[in-house]
Amino acid sequence: MITAAAAARAILTSLHEVMASRAGAQAKLNRIVDIIGEKLDSEVCSIYLLREGMLELFATRGLNQAAVHVTRMAVGEGLVGTIASNIETLNLAEAAAHPDFAFFPETGEERFHSFAGVPIVRRARAVGVLGVQHVEPRRYEEVEIEALQTVAMVLSELIANADLIDEEDALGADAHLTGHERIQGLTLVKGLASGIAVFHQPRITIEHVVADDTEAERQRVYLAFDKMREQIDRMASQAEFGMGGEHEEVLETYRMFAYDEGWSRRINEAIDSGLTAEAAIERVQQRTRMRMRQIDDPLLADRMHDLEDLSNRLLRMVSGQLGTAASLGLKGDAILVARNLGPAELLEYDRRRLKGVILEEGSLTAHVVIVARAMGVPVVGRMRALRGKVREGDQLLLDGDQGVVDVRPAPTLVEAFEARFARNRERQAHYAAMRDVEPVSLDGQRIRVMINAGLRDDMPMLNLTGADGIGLFRTEFQFLVSATLPARERQTRLYRDVLDAAGDRPVVFRTVDIGGDKVLPYLRHNDGETEENPAMGWRALRVALEREGLLKVQARALLEAAGGRTLNVMFPMVTEPWEFDAAQAVFESQLAFLKRQKKLLPDAIRYGAMLEVPALAECLDLLAPRLSFLSIGTNDLTQFLFAADRSHPKLAERYDWLSPAILRFLRRVVVAVAPTGTDLTVCGEMGGRRLEALALLGLGITRLSITPAAVGPVKELVRKVEIPEIRAAMDGWLAKPPANMRAAIAGWASERGIDCD
Ligand code: PEP
Ligand code: MG
Repeated sequence: MITAAAAARAILTSLHEVMASRAGAQAKLNRIVDIIGEKLDSEVCSIYLLREGMLELFATRGLNQAAVHVTRMAVGEGLVGTIASNIETLNLAEAAAHPDFAFFPETGEERFHSFAGVPIVRRARAVGVLGVQHVEPRRYEEVEIEALQTVAMVLSELIANADLIDEEDALGADAHLTGHERIQGLTLVKGLASGIAVFHQPRITIEHVVADDTEAERQRVYLAFDKMREQIDRMASQAEFGMGGEHEEVLETYRMFAYDEGWSRRINEAIDSGLTAEAAIERVQQRTRMRMRQIDDPLLADRMHDLEDLSNRLLRMVSGQLGTAASLGLKGDAILVARNLGPAELLEYDRRRLKGVILEEGSLTAHVVIVARAMGVPVVGRMRALRGKVREGDQLLLDGDQGVVDVRPAPTLVEAFEARFARNRERQAHYAAMRDVEPVSLDGQRIRVMINAGLRDDMPMLNLTGADGIGLFRTEFQFLVSATLPARERQTRLYRDVLDAAGDRPVVFRTVDIGGDKVLPYLRHNDGETEENPAMGWRALRVALEREGLLKVQARALLEAAGGRTLNVMFPMVTEPWEFDAAQAVFESQLAFLKRQKKLLPDAIRYGAMLEVPALAECLDLLAPRLSFLSIGTNDLTQFLFAADRSHPKLAERYDWLSPAILRFLRRVVVAVAPTGTDLTVCGEMGGRRLEALALLGLGITRLSITPAAVGPVKELVRKVEIPEIRAAMDGWLAKPPANMRAAIAGWASERGIDCD
């Protein structure tokens, strides 16, 4: 029996000659329909191509020649139109029996019973249809359909090279990728941005479809498979893949696909049929896409997404087009489109050109989002199947305030957006003008409003916002952006620059918090094993105390940088008091060393801890008196209180910071710390949202460290609040929680004209 590969190969060999000939495009198409008709023993073979939004008969063998360039049908009309609009194959023994059948008398096709057609696809869009017909009612064999599909791929190259279709027209075949589309997601970082869609992983362009040397193509695929499998295995062992929860499941699926013999065999068969390695991978992917489209199952759709990802990975390897959009460089104002990103990946982009980010996954407290917030880049997340809705180069309007993105907006929409942009800038200017306004409440309490930072570039924000200092300097950011462990001198330089820029305003340096979703490729587990729950695993102080060298180097760098000034140092993820003591001891021994070296020492060292693990709250009476300050990291604290992974996309909206559980917990901490006189700050993202900040004031929190963009809005809020009044209200809510705490607080604020949006 003839195999699919042999059938396709026989056709491709002949097509190769046609393609290489110097004939014009129309002559080539005429020749191609003859070849396919002969080889598939079909009386009719026709090619329809998209022109001016219609599918036009471009070449035929068997139908009336007078119908060529005359017969035209809309996408969606008749069998040919249905194939194009659904990007699906039809194989019918009796064409007229199909509900979508439409009769075009000028073609003289009434004699033919059987019909098979495949879409000609370019960049995931149908740009034409290749069809065969037969007088006898018969269904075409699988091998014949496969051959047709392979030929359709070759045709797509020929069509593109010969400029047979208008690129703009080509887009019309996929109605949902032309007109304006609004996608709703979840606000991760507020703000407005407009720019051109840039895929973090660019789509691969396939230059050649027909192979010159099949064996060479086979070798290229073998090598690419090896590399890809290696990469997936490495990801599994580093647990650095897919920082958005679910990664285990995804990884398992990835491995399953990567090692799937069926997949590699099908690619091999496609190569047998005469395709290049790239075309073979794409060909198999197209076929899978078509099959999956017929199955309406969201779970399978997710799997399809994974397979697409993997298939693209393989394509990148085989084609050598490896870089992300960051390595290629942004050309203009860009909005980055990605499934998910690591914080380090985001930092690779040019900050002047990166205007916004849209993610298929993402959550409020994922570190990439925190980094974006620090960079002032708006982010919308939780947007499913973006690749099916957005094309590279599309214009995008990103509304981080509403959590929506407009794709390919009409000019009127752009105008309205520009107007909002201008209003936004005015508002920002208004907040910027509040730089020197002090956050004093109506009853005269001076609230400390500080900023969270992590990069040298963040320092100008101190002056721009008029913040009281840096309440959290995430020192791990420099580790994340570096390919290797930053040397002590480099660390010292950074800390010194930061202190210089801050002048007499305090800076709280948090020692490295790596692990969790902040994975460093150069700092792996001793045993190289994957962690099941990295957020609850070997991270932050746990890593620092075990890899003492890491903490020692950092301690030296911080102590030296703070020579002659006050050093505020804070330890993350303290779970039991002894961990704080052990970390402090590392600093003290480094201090003793520096003293012996007669180095300039800090005038004072203030040691603090972060309250992120609920267990520590139970021991505050023991620890707080030993601390100079305590800072509540509500991002981690809430993930542990709710047992809800902070970067899990499915949990991103499930729990509310304004829930009785969180607020009561925080109140207990405030009450426990108050008698010790230890400074208490909230430095999680919660404090940067006005309604949450209002609730914190109600709990008795008077120190906030927040994202710079929130300083103006929070200062403004503080100045409108009568703190004893919100405290009394909060007492009532905590004693008898309303059904909807958020609504109750918002209602309270709006009754008093306090804007909390
Ligand atoms: C926190 O957990 O709230 C916090 C401020 O630290 P990070 O977000 O860096 O984990
Ligand atoms: Mg934390």
